[in-house]
Amino acid sequence: MIFEEMAHNDYEQLVFCYDEVSGLKAIICIHDTTLGPALGGARMWNYETEEEAITDVLRLARGMTYKNAAAGLNLGGGKTVIIGDAKKDKSEAFFRALGRYVNSLGGRYITAEDVNTTVQDMDLIYQETPYVCGISESYGSGGDPSPKTALGVYMAMKRTAKEAFGDDSLKGKTIAVQGVGNVAYTMCGLLHEEGAKLIVTDINQEAVDRAVENYGATAVGLDEIYGVEADIYAPCALGGILNDDTIPQMKVKAICGSANNQLQDDVKHSEMLAEKGIVYAPDYVVNSGGVVNVADELEGYDEERAVQKVKEIYNQMDKIFSIAKEDNISTAEAADRLAETRINQMMRVKSTFSLNEKNQFNKG
Ligand code: NAD
Repeated sequence: MIFEEMAHNDYEQLVFCYDEVSGLKAIICIHDTTLGPALGGARMWNYETEEEAITDVLRLARGMTYKNAAAGLNLGGGKTVIIGDAKKDKSEAFFRALGRYVNSLGGRYITAEDVNTTVQDMDLIYQETPYVCGISESYGSGGDPSPKTALGVYMAMKRTAKEAFGDDSLKGKTIAVQGVGNVAYTMCGLLHEEGAKLIVTDINQEAVDRAVENYGATAVGLDEIYGVEADIYAPCALGGILNDDTIPQMKVKAICGSANNQLQDDVKHSEMLAEKGIVYAPDYVVNSGGVVNVADELEGYDEERAVQKVKEIYNQMDKIFSIAKEDNISTAEAADRLAETRINQMMRVKSTFSLNEKNQFNKG
Protein backbone atom coordinates (compact mmCIF):
# COMPACT_ATOMS: atom_id res chain seq x y z
CA MET A 1 0.00 0.00 0.00
CA ILE A 2 2.70 2.51 1.00
CA PHE A 3 4.93 1.74 -1.98
CA GLU A 4 1.88 1.96 -4.24
CA GLU A 5 1.13 5.47 -2.92
CA MET A 6 4.83 6.42 -3.18
CA ALA A 7 4.92 5.29 -6.79
CA HIS A 8 1.60 6.93 -7.64
CA ASN A 9 2.64 10.39 -6.40
CA ASP A 10 6.39 10.16 -7.06
CA TYR A 11 7.66 10.11 -3.48
CA GLU A 12 11.40 9.75 -3.01
CA GLN A 13 11.89 8.53 0.55
CA LEU A 14 10.16 7.69 3.80
CA VAL A 15 12.36 7.44 6.90
CA PHE A 16 11.17 5.86 10.14
CA CYS A 17 12.99 7.30 13.13
CA TYR A 18 13.00 5.50 16.49
CA ASP A 19 15.04 6.18 19.61
CA GLU A 20 14.45 3.89 22.54
CA VAL A 21 16.06 6.08 25.22
CA SER A 22 14.13 9.29 24.47
CA GLY A 23 11.01 7.58 23.15
CA LEU A 24 11.23 9.36 19.79
CA LYS A 25 8.93 8.02 17.11
CA ALA A 26 8.94 10.11 13.97
CA ILE A 27 8.55 9.76 10.22
CA ILE A 28 10.40 11.97 7.77
CA CYS A 29 9.06 12.09 4.24
CA ILE A 30 11.00 13.47 1.30
CA HIS A 31 8.57 13.94 -1.54
CA ASP A 32 10.63 15.62 -4.23
CA THR A 33 14.11 17.17 -4.40
CA THR A 34 14.12 18.17 -8.08
CA LEU A 35 14.30 21.90 -7.30
CA GLY A 36 16.55 21.53 -4.26
CA PRO A 37 16.66 20.05 -0.74
CA ALA A 38 13.24 19.18 0.65
CA LEU A 39 12.12 21.84 3.16
CA GLY A 40 9.18 21.33 5.47
CA GLY A 41 8.41 21.55 9.17
CA ALA A 42 8.23 18.94 11.93
CA ARG A 43 4.68 18.52 13.23
CA MET A 44 4.03 16.83 16.59
CA TRP A 45 0.67 15.14 16.97
CA ASN A 46 -0.86 12.39 19.06
CA TYR A 47 -1.77 10.21 16.07
CA GLU A 48 -4.12 7.38 16.99
CA THR A 49 -2.44 4.97 14.60
CA GLU A 50 0.82 4.71 12.67
CA GLU A 51 -1.19 4.57 9.43
CA GLU A 52 -2.71 7.95 10.25
CA ALA A 53 0.78 9.42 10.78
CA ILE A 54 2.04 7.95 7.50
CA THR A 55 -0.97 9.30 5.57
CA ASP A 56 -0.44 12.74 7.10
CA VAL A 57 3.30 12.94 6.42
CA LEU A 58 2.81 11.83 2.80
CA ARG A 59 0.08 14.45 2.25
CA LEU A 60 1.97 17.26 3.98
CA ALA A 61 5.32 16.56 2.27
CA ARG A 62 3.72 16.60 -1.18
CA GLY A 63 1.96 19.85 -0.26
CA MET A 64 5.35 21.38 0.55
CA THR A 65 6.71 20.42 -2.88
CA TYR A 66 3.90 22.42 -4.49
CA LYS A 67 4.13 25.30 -2.03
CA ASN A 68 7.92 25.71 -2.36
CA ALA A 69 7.83 25.36 -6.15
CA ALA A 70 4.93 27.78 -6.66
CA ALA A 71 6.59 30.30 -4.32
CA GLY A 72 9.58 30.28 -6.68
CA LEU A 73 11.93 28.73 -4.11
CA ASN A 74 14.81 26.48 -5.16
CA LEU A 75 13.64 23.88 -2.69
CA GLY A 76 11.82 20.60 -2.81
CA GLY A 77 9.14 19.34 -0.46
CA GLY A 78 9.34 17.27 2.70
CA LYS A 79 7.86 17.01 6.16
CA THR A 80 8.31 15.27 9.50
CA VAL A 81 5.58 14.00 11.75
CA ILE A 82 6.46 13.19 15.34
CA ILE A 83 4.10 10.75 17.01
CA GLY A 84 3.49 11.89 20.58
CA ASP A 85 2.00 14.29 23.07
CA ALA A 86 3.65 17.72 22.78
CA LYS A 87 2.80 18.44 26.44
CA LYS A 88 4.38 15.27 27.85
CA ASP A 89 6.85 13.64 25.49
CA LYS A 90 9.33 16.39 24.64
CA SER A 91 12.89 16.35 26.00
CA GLU A 92 16.37 17.43 24.97
CA ALA A 93 17.29 13.83 24.10
CA PHE A 94 14.08 13.49 22.04
CA PHE A 95 14.83 16.42 19.71
CA ARG A 96 18.55 15.74 19.54
CA ALA A 97 17.72 12.19 18.43
CA LEU A 98 15.50 13.65 15.71
CA GLY A 99 18.32 16.06 14.79
CA ARG A 100 20.67 13.11 14.26
CA TYR A 101 18.15 11.48 11.92
CA VAL A 102 17.78 14.74 9.97
CA ASN A 103 21.57 14.99 9.80
CA SER A 104 21.88 11.43 8.51
CA LEU A 105 20.04 12.55 5.36
CA GLY A 106 23.02 14.75 4.50
CA GLY A 107 21.01 17.87 3.60
CA ARG A 108 18.40 16.21 1.39
CA TYR A 109 15.84 17.28 3.99
CA ILE A 110 15.72 20.52 6.04
CA THR A 111 13.34 20.75 8.97
CA ALA A 112 11.64 23.70 10.72
CA GLU A 113 8.88 24.43 13.25
CA ASP A 114 5.32 23.41 12.61
CA VAL A 115 2.22 22.56 14.63
CA ASN A 116 3.25 21.84 18.27
CA THR A 117 6.99 22.38 17.76
CA THR A 118 8.82 25.54 18.80
CA VAL A 119 11.96 27.60 18.27
CA GLN A 120 13.40 25.93 21.40
CA ASP A 121 12.82 22.49 19.86
CA MET A 122 14.58 23.62 16.66
CA ASP A 123 17.52 24.90 18.73
CA LEU A 124 17.92 21.37 20.15
CA ILE A 125 17.83 19.88 16.65
CA TYR A 126 20.46 22.46 15.66
CA GLN A 127 22.86 20.93 18.21
CA GLU A 128 23.00 17.86 15.95
CA THR A 129 22.54 19.20 12.43
CA PRO A 130 22.83 22.38 10.37
CA TYR A 131 19.80 21.25 8.33
CA VAL A 132 17.20 23.11 10.40
CA CYS A 133 15.50 26.53 10.05
CA GLY A 134 13.41 28.56 12.46
CA ILE A 135 16.06 28.48 15.19
CA SER A 136 16.58 31.33 17.70
CA GLU A 137 17.34 34.77 16.34
CA SER A 138 20.62 34.69 18.31
CA TYR A 139 21.76 31.90 15.96
CA GLY A 140 20.97 34.15 13.00
CA SER A 141 17.42 33.14 12.15
CA GLY A 142 14.55 35.30 10.90
CA GLY A 143 12.46 34.84 14.06
CA ASP A 144 8.66 34.54 14.00
CA PRO A 145 7.61 34.16 10.34
CA SER A 146 4.05 35.51 10.89
CA PRO A 147 4.81 39.15 9.96
CA LYS A 148 6.36 37.98 6.68
CA THR A 149 3.41 35.70 6.02
CA ALA A 150 1.20 38.76 6.55
CA LEU A 151 3.26 40.81 4.09
CA GLY A 152 2.92 38.01 1.54
CA VAL A 153 -0.86 37.87 1.99
CA TYR A 154 -1.02 41.65 1.55
CA MET A 155 1.03 41.49 -1.70
CA ALA A 156 -1.13 38.62 -2.98
CA MET A 157 -4.25 40.59 -2.08
CA LYS A 158 -3.07 43.59 -4.08
CA ARG A 159 -2.53 41.42 -7.17
CA THR A 160 -5.89 39.73 -6.57
CA ALA A 161 -7.57 43.16 -6.37
CA LYS A 162 -6.04 44.02 -9.74
CA GLU A 163 -7.62 40.88 -11.16
CA ALA A 164 -11.03 41.54 -9.61
CA PHE A 165 -11.25 45.34 -9.85
CA GLY A 166 -8.67 46.28 -12.51
CA ASP A 167 -6.48 48.17 -10.01
CA ASP A 168 -4.21 46.85 -7.27
CA SER A 169 -4.91 49.70 -4.85
CA LEU A 170 -6.74 48.59 -1.71
CA LYS A 171 -7.60 52.15 -0.70
CA GLY A 172 -11.31 52.38 0.03
CA LYS A 173 -11.80 48.63 -0.41
CA THR A 174 -13.62 46.72 2.33
CA ILE A 175 -11.89 43.56 3.54
CA ALA A 176 -13.76 40.98 5.65
CA VAL A 177 -11.22 39.20 7.88
CA GLN A 178 -12.02 35.87 9.56
CA GLY A 179 -9.61 35.40 12.50
CA VAL A 180 -7.39 38.29 13.55
CA GLY A 181 -4.50 36.32 15.05
CA ASN A 182 -0.75 36.62 14.46
CA VAL A 183 -0.84 36.83 10.68
CA ALA A 184 -4.11 38.71 10.18
CA TYR A 185 -3.42 41.40 12.78
CA THR A 186 -0.22 42.44 10.98
CA MET A 187 -2.05 42.17 7.64
CA CYS A 188 -4.83 44.42 8.99
CA GLY A 189 -2.16 46.99 9.91
CA LEU A 190 -0.87 47.05 6.32
CA LEU A 191 -4.41 47.29 4.93
CA HIS A 192 -5.32 50.06 7.37
CA GLU A 193 -2.20 51.99 6.34
CA GLU A 194 -3.29 51.78 2.71
CA GLY A 195 -6.74 53.10 3.53
CA ALA A 196 -8.78 49.89 3.39
CA LYS A 197 -11.86 49.42 5.58
CA LEU A 198 -11.90 46.33 7.79
CA ILE A 199 -14.66 44.03 9.01
CA VAL A 200 -13.39 41.43 11.48
CA THR A 201 -14.49 38.42 13.48
CA ASP A 202 -12.70 36.09 15.90
CA ILE A 203 -13.59 33.65 18.66
CA ASN A 204 -11.14 35.60 20.80
CA GLN A 205 -12.73 38.89 21.89
CA GLU A 206 -9.35 40.47 22.71
CA ALA A 207 -8.18 39.86 19.16
CA VAL A 208 -11.32 41.58 17.85
CA ASP A 209 -10.95 44.49 20.27
CA ARG A 210 -7.39 45.36 19.28
CA ALA A 211 -8.34 45.41 15.57
CA VAL A 212 -11.32 47.67 16.37
CA GLU A 213 -9.28 49.99 18.59
CA ASN A 214 -6.10 50.23 16.52
CA TYR A 215 -7.40 49.91 12.96
CA GLY A 216 -10.98 51.16 13.22
CA ALA A 217 -12.33 47.73 12.21
CA THR A 218 -16.03 46.88 12.45
CA ALA A 219 -16.72 43.72 14.45
CA VAL A 220 -19.29 41.13 13.30
CA GLY A 221 -20.46 37.74 14.60
CA LEU A 222 -18.63 34.51 13.76
CA ASP A 223 -21.10 33.32 11.12
CA GLU A 224 -21.94 36.79 9.83
CA ILE A 225 -18.52 37.21 8.21
CA TYR A 226 -19.43 35.05 5.18
CA GLY A 227 -22.33 37.25 4.07
CA VAL A 228 -21.11 40.78 4.81
CA GLU A 229 -21.06 43.49 2.13
CA ALA A 230 -17.35 43.64 1.31
CA ASP A 231 -14.96 43.59 -1.65
CA ILE A 232 -12.55 40.89 -0.47
CA TYR A 233 -12.92 38.05 2.03
CA ALA A 234 -9.72 37.12 3.89
CA PRO A 235 -9.97 33.73 5.63
CA CYS A 236 -7.18 33.73 8.22
CA ALA A 237 -8.36 31.18 10.78
CA LEU A 238 -9.70 27.86 9.54
CA GLY A 239 -9.45 25.34 6.72
CA GLY A 240 -12.44 24.09 4.70
CA ILE A 241 -14.35 27.38 4.98
CA LEU A 242 -15.07 27.62 1.26
CA ASN A 243 -17.90 25.12 1.05
CA ASP A 244 -21.53 24.45 0.10
CA ASP A 245 -22.83 26.51 3.06
CA THR A 246 -20.57 29.54 2.93
CA ILE A 247 -20.06 30.23 -0.80
CA PRO A 248 -23.78 30.93 -1.53
CA GLN A 249 -23.72 33.62 1.22
CA MET A 250 -20.78 35.51 -0.21
CA LYS A 251 -21.13 38.97 -1.74
CA VAL A 252 -17.41 39.62 -2.26
CA LYS A 253 -15.59 39.79 -5.59
CA ALA A 254 -12.38 38.13 -4.36
CA ILE A 255 -10.97 35.78 -1.71
CA CYS A 256 -7.42 36.05 -0.41
CA GLY A 257 -6.30 34.96 3.07
CA SER A 258 -3.66 33.07 5.03
CA ALA A 259 -5.59 29.97 6.16
CA ASN A 260 -4.46 26.59 4.80
CA ASN A 261 -6.72 24.30 2.75
CA GLN A 262 -9.53 26.84 2.36
CA LEU A 263 -11.43 24.95 -0.35
CA GLN A 264 -13.32 22.04 1.16
CA ASP A 265 -13.31 20.38 -2.26
CA ASP A 266 -10.73 21.80 -4.66
CA VAL A 267 -12.67 21.09 -7.85
CA LYS A 268 -16.27 21.56 -6.77
CA HIS A 269 -15.76 24.70 -4.73
CA SER A 270 -13.40 26.31 -7.26
CA GLU A 271 -16.22 25.86 -9.77
CA MET A 272 -18.79 27.34 -7.39
CA LEU A 273 -16.60 30.41 -6.87
CA ALA A 274 -16.04 30.81 -10.61
CA GLU A 275 -19.80 30.59 -11.24
CA LYS A 276 -20.33 33.45 -8.78
CA GLY A 277 -17.56 35.46 -10.48
CA ILE A 278 -15.40 35.42 -7.34
CA VAL A 279 -11.64 35.57 -7.94
CA TYR A 280 -9.88 33.01 -5.71
CA ALA A 281 -6.24 33.49 -4.70
CA PRO A 282 -4.79 29.99 -4.05
CA ASP A 283 -4.05 29.65 -0.32
CA TYR A 284 -0.69 27.92 -0.43
CA VAL A 285 0.79 30.63 -2.63
CA VAL A 286 -0.87 33.46 -0.70
CA ASN A 287 0.53 32.21 2.63
CA SER A 288 4.02 31.27 1.39
CA GLY A 289 5.69 34.37 2.92
CA GLY A 290 6.54 32.40 6.06
CA VAL A 291 8.36 29.63 4.23
CA VAL A 292 10.09 32.15 1.94
CA ASN A 293 11.36 33.97 5.04
CA VAL A 294 12.48 30.77 6.75
CA ALA A 295 14.21 29.56 3.59
CA ASP A 296 16.30 32.73 3.51
CA GLU A 297 18.10 31.42 6.60
CA LEU A 298 19.76 28.86 4.36
CA GLU A 299 21.78 31.68 2.80
CA GLY A 300 22.52 33.45 6.12
CA TYR A 301 19.41 35.40 7.06
CA ASP A 302 19.16 38.91 5.62
CA GLU A 303 15.87 40.61 6.44
CA GLU A 304 15.98 43.06 3.54
CA ARG A 305 16.54 40.24 1.05
CA ALA A 306 13.82 38.13 2.72
CA VAL A 307 11.32 41.00 2.42
CA GLN A 308 12.18 41.43 -1.27
CA LYS A 309 11.60 37.72 -1.86
CA VAL A 310 8.29 37.79 0.02
CA LYS A 311 7.15 40.71 -2.14
CA GLU A 312 7.77 38.47 -5.18
CA ILE A 313 4.51 36.70 -4.23
CA TYR A 314 2.82 39.48 -6.21
CA ASN A 315 4.58 38.22 -9.37
CA GLN A 316 3.90 34.58 -8.58
CA MET A 317 0.20 35.49 -8.38
CA ASP A 318 0.55 37.24 -11.71
CA LYS A 319 1.80 34.00 -13.27
CA ILE A 320 -1.06 32.04 -11.70
CA PHE A 321 -3.73 34.34 -13.07
CA SER A 322 -2.10 34.18 -16.53
CA ILE A 323 -1.95 30.37 -16.50
CA ALA A 324 -5.59 30.18 -15.35
CA LYS A 325 -6.67 32.41 -18.25
CA GLU A 326 -4.49 30.83 -20.93
CA ASP A 327 -5.34 27.24 -19.98
CA ASN A 328 -8.93 28.03 -18.97
CA ILE A 329 -8.55 26.39 -15.57
CA SER A 330 -9.26 27.44 -11.99
CA THR A 331 -6.66 29.47 -10.11
CA ALA A 332 -6.23 26.57 -7.66
CA GLU A 333 -5.35 24.28 -10.56
CA ALA A 334 -3.15 26.98 -12.08
CA ALA A 335 -1.06 27.14 -8.89
CA ASP A 336 -0.51 23.37 -9.11
CA ARG A 337 0.37 23.71 -12.79
CA LEU A 338 2.90 26.47 -12.07
CA ALA A 339 4.60 24.21 -9.53
CA GLU A 340 4.49 21.13 -11.77
CA THR A 341 5.83 23.02 -14.78
CA ARG A 342 8.84 24.26 -12.80
CA ILE A 343 9.58 20.75 -11.54
CA ASN A 344 9.13 19.13 -14.94
CA GLN A 345 11.38 21.69 -16.61
CA MET A 346 14.10 21.05 -14.03
CA MET A 347 13.74 17.31 -14.57
CA ARG A 348 14.47 17.89 -18.26
CA VAL A 349 17.52 19.98 -17.36
CA LYS A 350 18.69 17.17 -15.11
CA SER A 351 18.26 14.56 -17.80
CA THR A 352 20.09 16.76 -20.34
CA PHE A 353 22.98 17.12 -17.90
CA SER A 354 23.24 13.41 -17.41
CA LEU A 355 23.12 12.90 -21.17
CA ASN A 356 25.96 15.41 -21.61
CA GLU A 357 27.94 13.78 -18.86
CA LYS A 358 27.40 10.41 -20.52
CA ASN A 359 28.56 11.77 -23.89
CA GLN A 360 31.70 13.23 -22.37
CA PHE A 361 32.37 9.96 -20.60
CA ASN A 362 31.95 8.05 -23.86
CA LYS A 363 34.28 10.46 -25.68
CA GLY A 364 36.83 10.24 -22.86
P1 NAD B 1 -3.32 32.36 15.06
O1 NAD B 1 -3.71 31.20 15.89
O2 NAD B 1 -2.44 33.42 15.66
O3 NAD B 1 -4.62 33.10 14.48
C1 NAD B 1 -5.80 32.45 14.17
C2 NAD B 1 -6.94 33.27 14.74
O4 NAD B 1 -8.17 32.69 14.31
C3 NAD B 1 -6.95 33.32 16.26
O5 NAD B 1 -7.07 34.66 16.73
C4 NAD B 1 -8.20 32.49 16.62
O6 NAD B 1 -8.83 32.92 17.82
C5 NAD B 1 -9.07 32.70 15.40
N1 NAD B 1 -10.10 31.68 15.19
C6 NAD B 1 -10.05 30.35 15.43
N2 NAD B 1 -11.22 29.76 15.12
C7 NAD B 1 -12.02 30.74 14.64
C8 NAD B 1 -13.34 30.77 14.15
N3 NAD B 1 -14.10 29.67 14.11
N4 NAD B 1 -13.84 31.95 13.72
C9 NAD B 1 -13.10 33.08 13.78
N5 NAD B 1 -11.86 33.12 14.27
C10 NAD B 1 -11.32 31.97 14.68
O7 NAD B 1 -2.66 31.74 13.75
P2 NAD B 1 -1.82 32.49 12.63
O8 NAD B 1 -0.38 32.14 12.82
O9 NAD B 1 -2.22 33.90 12.53
O10 NAD B 1 -2.30 31.68 11.35
C11 NAD B 1 -3.56 31.93 10.76
C12 NAD B 1 -3.80 30.95 9.62
O11 NAD B 1 -2.76 31.12 8.65
C13 NAD B 1 -3.76 29.49 10.05
O12 NAD B 1 -4.68 28.78 9.29
C14 NAD B 1 -2.34 29.05 9.69
O13 NAD B 1 -2.27 27.67 9.41
C15 NAD B 1 -2.10 29.86 8.42
N6 NAD B 1 -0.67 30.13 8.19
C16 NAD B 1 0.09 30.79 9.10
C17 NAD B 1 1.43 31.04 8.84
C18 NAD B 1 2.30 31.80 9.81
O14 NAD B 1 3.40 32.23 9.44
N7 NAD B 1 1.86 31.99 11.03
C19 NAD B 1 2.01 30.60 7.62
C20 NAD B 1 1.20 29.92 6.70
C21 NAD B 1 -0.14 29.70 6.99
